[in-house]
Amino acid sequence: MNRKVIIGILALQGGFIEHIRALNALGAETFEIRKKDDLRKPADGLILPGGESTTMSKLLTDLDMFNDLKAIISGGMPVFATCAGMILLARKIAGTQTVHLGIMDITVKRNAYGRQLGSFFVHAPFQELGMVPMTFIRAPFVESAGATVSVLSIVDDRIVAVRQGNMLATAFHPELNTDNRIHQYFIEKIVFRT
Ligand code: GLN
Repeated sequence: MNRKVIIGILALQGGFIEHIRALNALGAETFEIRKKDDLRKPADGLILPGGESTTMSKLLTDLDMFNDLKAIISGGMPVFATCAGMILLARKIAGTQTVHLGIMDITVKRNAYGRQLGSFFVHAPFQELGMVPMTFIRAPFVESAGATVSVLSIVDDRIVAVRQGNMLATAFHPELNTDNRIHQYFIEKIVFRT
């Protein structure tokens, strides 16, 4: 492909600017998704950022974007979801009947590290990338994953990164570090399927 890869970033709420920085640093073109029409723009992939999943889901509904976004991702659009984004994708949220997009075959536990450990930083192994920096902010973890979900990273016996087909999700925030390898992984493995 000799044109730039184009990634749309859901920009209703939360930490989307840092994803734009990381993707631009890798040479990707980016645009912000703020309204329904933005979902029709040509894109090779999407980002669902961190923030507050309940708020983001409500905004998606209020702005009449929820069903279109769900259809686009279900239709195979590559998507990279971080933290609250992972909660939006999950088929089940432990301890509640609430489901948002419900597309990825994982059960997540919200705010799963308790109050004291709400935010922390570690270096931990991620699939073939080796050690990567991971910033967790009131993060979820994956309590269980379906048979077609690949586990990409485990921290303290908890699953923190997964892939299922066109979807990549991390409980932590790779965009908050200058190490852009997970965004690069998304572009290479999920968008271009190399
Ligand atoms: N705790 C938030 C939620 O439940 C996620 C936190 C984050 O995205 N950093 O939506």
